[in-house]
Amino acid sequence: MINFNVPPYAEKAMDYIRECVENQKICGDGAYTKKCNEWIEEKTGTAKCLLTTSCTHATELAALLLPEIGHGDEVIMPAYTFVSTADAFVLRGAVPVFVDIRPDTMNIDDRLIEEAVTERTKAIVPVHYAGVACEMDTIMDIADRHHLAVIEDAAQGIMSTYKGKALGTIGDFGCFSFHETKNYSMGEGGALLIRDERDVEAAEIIREKGTNRSKYYRGQIDKYTWIDYGSSYLPSDMNAAYLYAQLEIAEEINDARLNIWNRYYENLAPLAEAGKIELPVVPEGCVHNGHMFYLKARDIKERTALIAYLKDNGIHAVFHYVPLHTAPAGLKFGRFHGEDRYTTRESERLLRLPMYYGLELGQVDYICETLGKFYR
Ligand SMILES: *Cc1c(COP(=O)(O)O)cnc(C)c1O
Repeated sequence: MINFNVPPYAEKAMDYIRECVENQKICGDGAYTKKCNEWIEEKTGTAKCLLTTSCTHATELAALLLPEIGHGDEVIMPAYTFVSTADAFVLRGAVPVFVDIRPDTMNIDDRLIEEAVTERTKAIVPVHYAGVACEMDTIMDIADRHHLAVIEDAAQGIMSTYKGKALGTIGDFGCFSFHETKNYSMGEGGALLIRDERDVEAAEIIREKGTNRSKYYRGQIDKYTWIDYGSSYLPSDMNAAYLYAQLEIAEEINDARLNIWNRYYENLAPLAEAGKIELPVVPEGCVHNGHMFYLKARDIKERTALIAYLKDNGIHAVFHYVPLHTAPAGLKFGRFHGEDRYTTRESERLLRLPMYYGLELGQVDYICETLGKFYR
């Protein structure tokens, strides 16, 4: 069976974890957490990176950093996304306002955002699907004119850029995921990227249970105390150690994924040209990270048959994201603005093919041949 995903692993991980254990430094904000934060700051150019326990928690932390968001306020986002994008704001009593996606990238349609803005809108949350950037110039322009915060859900977007800028560094806050299904992983984990130095202190306080312990650790104060609301969003340094081993070989992992992506694309181009399937689109100005390879079948019926056929041939392919506005919690907490032209229709056609660091090009060829047989 060709798995859909295999969690990324870099050889040095076990040495680094052993070091944490032997040094009896396994709690949060140890040496490896620092190394990961610094690596991300250097790589992306963000003012500050804080490793978190998940991307869900990074988004929650970002929502808590926007005290102006409260009950009944509105946050604009796509419905074609993972639940965390909405949860972080629903927890604050805000209403997710879902805007349709564009069918080429599956990202929020930037041209539909402005008409969804009301007096209660407080933020926009673009999701960079498959590590391919949303149209950030338009989004930042709307945000500036309406005084809205922008929180980038860049869970899938580490190593990707938009017009030369790293995803996660363009909005006020950016959120990465290091879940085991992502390009780089620590099992469960994430990171909050902070664009403005002025937000760093508040973020450190919320992440450390509402205390100024981060300052204390840096020797800037003699004792720490409870000074604001907060929670606990620090991962164990053992998890950071596992991640850091991959960050050290980040380019190698990225290149391997792009090779797989390109191989899929070349192999499947004839099927696309014959009008049997559609392939992903990467707009000009966007550099992606090979996070995902998907194709679009004609409709949900064909996709279901395709998944079964691939399974019979030893290939595990999956779909995801039942659009949030059609889920029970989405119906309860959110609303869709405008017409759902593409969100539901395109989500029902999309099929994700196996993609992970270590997948061999020979396996990609076999998957593509199998797809070819299905369509013959
Ligand atoms: C994976 C993912 C998340 C959640 O990440 P966690 O680290 O599991 O919390 C959020 N949004 C998107 C778009 C994702 O792909």
